Amino acid sequence: SVVGSSPRTHLVAAPTGTTRVAAVIGSPVRHSLSPVIHNAAFGALDIDWTYLAFDVAAGDAADALDAMRTLRLGGLSVTMPHKADAAAAVDRLTPEASSLGAVNFVSWDRGELVGHNTDGRGFVDSLEASIGAAVAGRHCHVVGAGGAARAIVLALAEAGADQVVVVNRSRAKAEVAAALAGGKGRVGRPIDVKEADVVINATSMGMAGTSAAHVLPVEPSLLREGQVLAELVYHPLRTPLMDAAADIGATVVGGVGMLVHQAARQFELWTGEAAPLDAMHEAANEAIARA
Ligand code: NDP
Repeated sequence: SVVGSSPRTHLVAAPTGTTRVAAVIGSPVRHSLSPVIHNAAFGALDIDWTYLAFDVAAGDAADALDAMRTLRLGGLSVTMPHKADAAAAVDRLTPEASSLGAVNFVSWDRGELVGHNTDGRGFVDSLEASIGAAVAGRHCHVVGAGGAARAIVLALAEAGADQVVVVNRSRAKAEVAAALAGGKGRVGRPIDVKEADVVINATSMGMAGTSAAHVLPVEPSLLREGQVLAELVYHPLRTPLMDAAADIGATVVGGVGMLVHQAARQFELWTGEAAPLDAMHEAANEAIARA
């Protein structure tokens, strides 16, 4: 149901009586890129789905999941502040969502609601697609220990990373995150960046419009040619850390890929179709460039 001839607009036709509805719940949610990315995917494949954003107040995630049951929504993405509450309200959790105690989307399985967490796997998919190689056997250094960092630490270990070193402002949170990698995880020091094959900024430092927009989460002089520097921050598309790392000769991977790949895993489970990654990526890049 694509309207118009330009593949860059990805306009979905007006919903009809047969349209399946998916949505994201969060608060605030109005700046979420999920509607842009998912509607671009529905439009690119010309399938009869649409995707909305619902601002759901903190504490109301269980009610939103009941609404999903009643309204028979096709799928639900979950973002801040509902990820933990959604994990408590679904019928079943995947092993990743259970380990993290957090859900980033919900799908149907034989009448039951299943809570998934594809943030970490989405990151690994993006990283491997960008560098054209597997993360297995690599030494990874994660800066940050929030929700996104924890999902990444778990996914890196599951993908066969050799070591996962976690560095965070608050050490207690770094310990919790590192433990998710089992015997491969440990809390490190900033200087340990030197030993890493892959360095990941999983903090919000570098995010446009914040007081830390120009703060570098990693000392660039510790980086070297041949390393991979991956960002989670995607606004701006190119962060000060990515510029500094590229100057040194590191391979840089931006944060948009993670956003797209975690959405792609949702899309595929909900619709059963292979996700049109290029259309999703293009739509996300355009929306961020406009923001
Ligand atoms: P959280 O709030 O859970 O964690 C924030 C992390 O950043 C913590 O480790 C925190 O340290 C650290 N931090 C924040 N500010 C500073 C600072 N000034 N100095 C040092 N450390 C700081 O957030 P999330 O884990 O959910 O998200 C982290 C980032 O990843 C955000 O920028 C988010 O937009 C991005 N993200 C990107 C995704 C993508 O698809 N590309 C997906 C999800 C998130 P402390 O523990 O000490 O407070």
